Amino acid sequence: MKTAATTGKKEGEVRICMSPDCNEPLGEGRPDKKFCGDGCRNVYNNWVKKKEQAEIKNIDQALKRNRRILKKLLGNMGEIIVTEKQLRNEGFNFDFTTHTITSKIKGNQFIFSYNYGYRAMGNGKFKVVKSFYGDTMPE
Ligand SMILES: [Zn+2]
Repeated sequence: MKTAATTGKKEGEVRICMSPDCNEPLGEGRPDKKFCGDGCRNVYNNWVKKKEQAEIKNIDQALKRNRRILKKLLGNMGEIIVTEKQLRNEGFNFDFTTHTITSKIKGNQFIFSYNYGYRAMGNGKFKVVKSFYGDTMPE
């Protein structure tokens, strides 16, 4: 697979299309030309997008799994206390989070996977909550 680094123009070098699996020389023309045509530009852009998705796939999956686990444990409750063991047994991964929200009244910090979050209560216990932006937060 060619990259920008290998197709970068050097003195006396023939520039070739940056699209993967295309080796067409670009010929004369604008010095910033990178592709032999719109088709190759699309192939290249899709290739970059696919590569990016592959890089973040594992993290995406862990975040979505975390969210599903919190959602399942919470059920229809507004908040619930669970143990670390319960979370780990479900496959919860504490390494990945999307963001944190600090509750306004008590200043407690909740750690979120999307719209489901938790807060460490000590002694291996966690409070699980659900929140959307703009919703009221637990104290
Ligand atoms: Zn091409």
